[in-house]
Amino acid sequence: MIITKVRAHHLRDIPMQSPPFRDKPNRTRALLIEVGTDEGITGWGLHGYAHKSIVSFVNDYVADIVVGMDPLRPARVQNALRKQLTVRHLGATLTNALAGIDVALWDVLGQHTGLSVHTLLGGAHDRIPVYITHGAAYDDAPVYSVDELAREAKHLVDLGNVHIKNTVGRQAVPDPEDDYVRMAAIREAVGPDVRVAMDGNCRMTLPQTVRLCALTEELNISFLEEPILHNDPALLRQLRAKTTIPIAAGPNHLHSARDLLVADAVDIIQPNVCNDAGYTAALGIAEMAEAFNVPLGHGNGSGPHNVALQAGVRNGQIIEYHFHKWMAYNAIFENVPQPENGFLTPSSEPGTGLRPRDGLIAEYEVDH
Ligand SMILES: [Mg+2]
Repeated sequence: MIITKVRAHHLRDIPMQSPPFRDKPNRTRALLIEVGTDEGITGWGLHGYAHKSIVSFVNDYVADIVVGMDPLRPARVQNALRKQLTVRHLGATLTNALAGIDVALWDVLGQHTGLSVHTLLGGAHDRIPVYITHGAAYDDAPVYSVDELAREAKHLVDLGNVHIKNTVGRQAVPDPEDDYVRMAAIREAVGPDVRVAMDGNCRMTLPQTVRLCALTEELNISFLEEPILHNDPALLRQLRAKTTIPIAAGPNHLHSARDLLVADAVDIIQPNVCNDAGYTAALGIAEMAEAFNVPLGHGNGSGPHNVALQAGVRNGQIIEYHFHKWMAYNAIFENVPQPENGFLTPSSEPGTGLRPRDGLIAEYEVDH
């Protein structure tokens, strides 16, 4: 089989369901990566953050290298791209583009063999715990008030969710006292039995994070994700020595995964197949983490693509469904696995099982 087409599609203004008590966001964008083959199988990948720079990079540079290669050999495609484009010069741009292509290639591989990506990755777990992230304002919407946050958290729990996550450090200057008030209101609203996590999105300094952890320890926080600027491994290690709250962080490529693990910087490592060089690289990160006795987690929005990884590998542990991204997936793809009683069952369809809805690209694709 030969790859005949590689195309990044940038879609905008796709209608989607807004958060529980807000009108917006009610539109989303997406960056879909299409890999076509001479045997009629088409694989689909997604770039998690839809940076439009990836569109021209894929269409103008990556496609020329990948067209003509064998789609059933994702590792060989990675080697060709890494050799010709070099991570040293292109860094995250390349690993982001690699992610979309790699996910599409595993989708082709699954369709060709009749197996789900979950099975191809090892099929370790039948289902995986899922948590719901909520309360992050988008599109210049006002920051959630304390009451709004608590009400939304309670609503999500009433729908059957057992683990939720909220963002912290989002003030103009990160403010641990304010975040404590917000998290305490959520804890009070959902009661003691629901798991509650926090995500700093790499916004805080070490002292700000230490203060936040000291204040929130009493709230029984399940984990704190990416609190510190740039996921600095040395600072995360210092943080771990000062708190009992488990610390999670995502690598942005294989080598930063190594740096986080060697530095003893994380309790949970969170690769994202839609940004960090795909299933191929994530398998390597999973094995590396296993050697350090560090479980895999997930925290970057692209849950429906990542569930195959978390449920596939031995040390997969948990998946994020970020409410905004979850609704975006429902708007973009057919057959998105939906959370049920706190768990997610990976698709058993050949490949990823995620196909863009009919007519979606034609209606919402924009030119550059
Ligand atoms: Mg996060």
